[in-house]
Amino acid sequence: MGRFHKNNFQVNLNLNIRGLEQSTTLLINEKSRELQKKGKKIYKLGLGQSPFPVPEIVVESLRQNAHQKDYLPVRGLPQLREAVAEYNWREHKIKSNPDDILIGPGSKELIFLLQLVYYGDLIIPTPSWVSYSPQARIIGRNVQWVQTGYGDNWRLNPERLDLICRTDPSKPRIVIINYPANPTGYTYPLERLKELAKAARKYNVILISDEIYGMIHHTGQHVSIARFYPEGTIVSSGLSKWCGAGGWRLGTFSFPENLRWLLDAMATVASETFTATSAPIQYAAVTAFKMGNEMNEYLYFTRKILREIAKYLVHKLKEMNIDLQLPQGAFYLFPNFEFYREKLQKTGIYTSNELCNTILSKLNIAMLPGSDFGRPPEELTVRIAYVDFDGKKALESSKKYGHNGTNGTMNGTFIRENCQPLVKAFDLLGNWLADL
Ligand code: PMP
Ligand code: GLU
Repeated sequence: MGRFHKNNFQVNLNLNIRGLEQSTTLLINEKSRELQKKGKKIYKLGLGQSPFPVPEIVVESLRQNAHQKDYLPVRGLPQLREAVAEYNWREHKIKSNPDDILIGPGSKELIFLLQLVYYGDLIIPTPSWVSYSPQARIIGRNVQWVQTGYGDNWRLNPERLDLICRTDPSKPRIVIINYPANPTGYTYPLERLKELAKAARKYNVILISDEIYGMIHHTGQHVSIARFYPEGTIVSSGLSKWCGAGGWRLGTFSFPENLRWLLDAMATVASETFTATSAPIQYAAVTAFKMGNEMNEYLYFTRKILREIAKYLVHKLKEMNIDLQLPQGAFYLFPNFEFYREKLQKTGIYTSNELCNTILSKLNIAMLPGSDFGRPPEELTVRIAYVDFDGKKALESSKKYGHNGTNGTMNGTFIRENCQPLVKAFDLLGNWLADL
């Protein structure tokens, strides 16, 4: 039997899939679970998922709709598409028509479908979320990474975008921007959004604005670029992050009317693949998108907790001589261990991957290397998802502080009392670096 056979079968994978591994965000979680099964205490800062429970009002709505068993329309439950359109206007001042909303089993699937149906190059800044580029590779599209810099908080620069598009102005392109960003937590200031919108309009690029972390901007000040480039922007969002419901798998795409043909094409492929998104989940999502007091309260406190943790951890990193600007949203930090390069090299660590592997094996802390996000392998950046704490308990405790600090300010004491695994992991990291 030749080496391309396994048992009786020819190992004959599609060329685009050969050599591709499972997504690193999910792989690190599985690796952490394996280690936990072996009895190790693992600090899980690898997979980026919300630490908070799904709000009770949304869970109750799911209970009430568990009996919904029929296949729903391919594009999504009409009430949900209406609720998303209303939410777009109420929360983000984006005008959208329910007919221009597409519901899918996670925004990840929708981003994939869009890349499949639109024939164009993919342009993404480095660093970017781990899945955009493998999706393009699976489909067979070209990916163009755009350099960014630490000094600019790793954001896409409109002049760089212009420079790329200028080489062949009429070439079809998809640009993805994501903010607050995974893996950095940084967002774009208003002026930059306007400049990016101008560059996108100049070359008629299809802009996917991945705003999955928009509602967990730490001070609730997220602004959608769809306000400045409405005709070419598709806003990608869903329940995973702000509603704590990653495992529910519900994503939304909001299109401008003139891109209805793209939505139609995606719906065709959806109808031949996943059919429709889970019915009970869609009914429950209506409650989430309608918001109301309970949701607003939930958002207020979850944002506050994430902000306070970010402050605490950034301060801890500074104490370790790792300088980092405070992120504005999501639950990620993207520090660079350059300060320790020489010492790390003496122990055989030359890349971010080696750094993460060592930290996992020596300190039991899981995190992801910058190289998974498109950074050069030898750059010592890592992504820390600061989600390993009991979100339910933290949420309850945070409420005691009241609104706007009426009952005292949430600070390091709150973090030490409610986010022990994070505190412990950072203490271990600090001690290890000091002893190098
Ligand atoms: N975009 C970004 C930047 C993400 O971090 C994620 C991870 N959840 C997604 C999209 C996909 O989210 P989902 O499929 O859960 O909607
Ligand atoms: N988006 C999350 C992350 O970056 C995990 C979920 C996923 O990748 O699908 O860790």
